[in-house]
Amino acid sequence: MATRLNPCELEIDLFCRGLHIDESCVLEKDARFLARTRAGLGSGLELVIPGPLKDIWMNAPIEEDFVHDSPYTLLFRDGSYGVRDSRGDLEYDVEIPGQPAWYTAKTSSGTEMSRVGVLQGTYLGIYLSNSCSFWYHSPSLGCKFCTTGLNVGVNEAAEKAIADVVETARAAKEESGVTFVHFNSGYAGKDKGLDMAAPYIKAIKEQVGMLTGVQVTPSPNLWKYDWLVDCGVDHFSFCYEFHNPKFFAELLPGKEKLIGQQTFFNALEYTAKKMGKGRVSGEIIAGVEPIEDTLEAIDYIADVGAFPTVCIFRPTIGAEMERYPSPKYEDMRVVMEHMYRACRRNGIPIGAAPNIEVSLIVQPGDARYLAKRDTAWWMYEAKLAALRKLAAPKFKHELKPRRVSGNPHSHPKGSPEIVAPRSPEADELAREAGVGARRS
Ligand code: SF4
Repeated sequence: MATRLNPCELEIDLFCRGLHIDESCVLEKDARFLARTRAGLGSGLELVIPGPLKDIWMNAPIEEDFVHDSPYTLLFRDGSYGVRDSRGDLEYDVEIPGQPAWYTAKTSSGTEMSRVGVLQGTYLGIYLSNSCSFWYHSPSLGCKFCTTGLNVGVNEAAEKAIADVVETARAAKEESGVTFVHFNSGYAGKDKGLDMAAPYIKAIKEQVGMLTGVQVTPSPNLWKYDWLVDCGVDHFSFCYEFHNPKFFAELLPGKEKLIGQQTFFNALEYTAKKMGKGRVSGEIIAGVEPIEDTLEAIDYIADVGAFPTVCIFRPTIGAEMERYPSPKYEDMRVVMEHMYRACRRNGIPIGAAPNIEVSLIVQPGDARYLAKRDTAWWMYEAKLAALRKLAAPKFKHELKPRRVSGNPHSHPKGSPEIVAPRSPEADELAREAGVGARRS
C-alpha cells in the first residue's frame, strides 16, 4: 500500500516511473504539445504539482517503455486534472499548463515561434546551432543518453536568425510573463559555443530585457566568459553529466575525446568565482553512475558556489541508452535531499530569481519539501526570503532593455571569430562589437 507523498516526492516518483494518460484527458486541447527536442529530456508532459511551499513544475515521462509499469494515471474529473496512484486509494491534484497562443504565431520572416523556442517549465529554451557536431563523427561521438541528432531541425528550425529569436522572446515575455531565456547548444566545433551565443545574448539584453543563460560546451579560453558577461549573460551552466571519470569517458565519448572532464571543472570554477553564488550551475545525471559518485558531484558543485542541477536519468526513445532501467525512487530521494542540504550548507540562494521554474530537473527549491523542518531548515528559509527581497530591485532592472558592451577586444587575448547565424542582424551586432562576423 502506497503512502501519500509530498509534492517533491511525487515529482521524483513520476520522473522514475512515468505517467499513463487516461482517456478522460483532452491533452490536444489542454496541454502544450510534446516537445521532442534537444537531448530528449523534454519529451514528456509538462505538469504542475501545487504545494504549500511552492508549486512544482515537471516534465513527466509518458512514452518510454518503463512507463508501462507505472502505477500513476492522469485523469480528468470534475473539471480538473488529477494523478491517481493505483497502489492505494490516492489521488493528487495537478495542473496542466496550456499552450501559449504565441507558439503558433509567426515571426516577421514567417517562422513559427515554437520552432524557434519552447517553454520548459516557465522559461524559454532556445537551441542554437544546427545540431551537435558529435553526431557527425563516424562512429558517432554523441552522448549515449541523448537524442539531439534525431530531433533538431525536425521539430524546430535548425538555424535561428537573431530577429526571430528576439521576436519570440518578446512574445514569451509579454504574453506568458517569461523572465528567463536559456540558450543551449551541443558541441559546435572547437571552442565555438560562446562565440555563437554572444550576439543572441546582446540582442536579448538590448532589445527585449530578460535574464539570460548559456549552456554550451566549455571553453578552455576563460577570458571568453568575461566577454559573455559583458554581453549580458546572467547564468552559465555546464553539463558534465557524470562525476565518475570512467562513466564520463564511456558514456560521453565526444566530451571525453574532444573536451575532457577537467575543462568542465575549470570553466565551472572560474565562472562561479567570477559571478558569485548561484549564478552558475553544474549539471549532472543521477541514476546511472553509482550513487556515491552523484553525491560527490553535488558536494563538489555546491562547494564551489554553484547550483547542482540534477536530472533524473530518462531512457529516452531512440537514445543508445534507451534500454537502461529508469532509476529507483528511493535512491533519487536520497540524492535530492542531499542536493538540498549541500545548497543549504553553502548558502546557495535558491529561488532568488523571479519566475524561473525548470521542468526537466528536480530544482533545489523543490527539494525543500524533502528535508526535516528543524532549526536549520527554518533559518535557511528566512535567509532565502531575505535574499529574494534584497535581489528584487536588481532583477527588476535586468528585465528592462539596456545597452551592453560585449566587445571581445576589451579582454586580453580577445580575438574571437563570431560564428554568426544567417541574419543581417548578426553582422550588425558583430560590427558593433568591433569584430568581423563570419558565417558558418
Ligand atoms: S553534447 Fe552530448 S548531450 Fe549535448 S547535444 Fe551533443 S550529444 Fe547531446
